[in-house]
Amino acid sequence: MNRKLLNRKKMLCLSCMEEHEVEMVSYIDKNIFKGVSVEFPAEYYYCSRTEEYYADEIQMCANDISMKDAYRQKQRLLTSKDISAIREKYGISQSDLSLLLGWGKKTITRYEGHQVQDAAHDTILKKLRDDPEWFLALLDLVKESFTESSYAKYRTKAIRIFEQERDQYLRKAIFAQYARFSDNFEYSGNVRLSLDKVVDVIRYFSNAPQVIKLYKVKLMKLLWYSDTLSFKRRGHAITGLIYQALPMGAVPIAHDSIIDLYGVDYDEVELGDGTGYYFKKSVNEQYQSLSKEDMDILDEIIRVFGSCTKDTIIHAMHMETAYVKTASRAVISFQYAKELSIP
Ligand SMILES: [Zn+2]
Repeated sequence: MNRKLLNRKKMLCLSCMEEHEVEMVSYIDKNIFKGVSVEFPAEYYYCSRTEEYYADEIQMCANDISMKDAYRQKQRLLTSKDISAIREKYGISQSDLSLLLGWGKKTITRYEGHQVQDAAHDTILKKLRDDPEWFLALLDLVKESFTESSYAKYRTKAIRIFEQERDQYLRKAIFAQYARFSDNFEYSGNVRLSLDKVVDVIRYFSNAPQVIKLYKVKLMKLLWYSDTLSFKRRGHAITGLIYQALPMGAVPIAHDSIIDLYGVDYDEVELGDGTGYYFKKSVNEQYQSLSKEDMDILDEIIRVFGSCTKDTIIHAMHMETAYVKTASRAVISFQYAKELSIP
């Protein structure tokens, strides 16, 4: 048997009922549970006089959970630790999670202990782990059962998780759209795409009081001008966005997605010619990903274009060499940056 010595102490030995030095050991134990043979780490005392292994109450309890977790793993069920990790994720107590799922008050406590959950409950717990939106829906259904403060606490936390997970997914989708350009530094302006910088630059513009009427078309031009001026002055862009020449000027690839990144706030408004996206001030006025030099470039762009209308900036863009020399819908190369109208 491959046993590991954990400790040795003088105590009343429950095997021979004498006081002597007893070994505390661990080894991989075997058992059959619900017809399934399982192997699990277990801890025991060992009496060298009787050559017997035995467990006290605490060890018995821990060994039982260890055995059941081994069974759960073998059956691809959540282990007791997996279940408590779901509660930690949402910051919810055992009884409140039971309540949320419409189960008996002690159900989750039991599942984190000796009772193995059935497959149906296991599926529900996994869904809840992976779907914060469903957590929010359930929470609203049982709202009345919680105190106001518990409800508010769980809701805030779940919304935050929901937004973060959605943002991670969105970021992956954006990087996927950029993957085929990953080695083309002429297109990205000598830097790799930084979505943190994209978010900070957008917030920097929407928070600047000198920038008026910041709708999407204008914002897209401000981004291109910022990256291009940065490239002209320093040999590299700020964000790593790649721009295409569209009829209204430069527009970054994945433009629909970048405005939905966490931290960017806009209102959808009905304009004469369709829906407009109006970018709002954000509460957060920290720009952790931007350097002082980045912000100097942005300030220069704000000075030139902050107060101009969408039509003025489109017109300016149409006159830029980079735009004139790029075929319609093609990617705009940063090689034209030296001819930018802004010195
Ligand atoms: Zn003994």
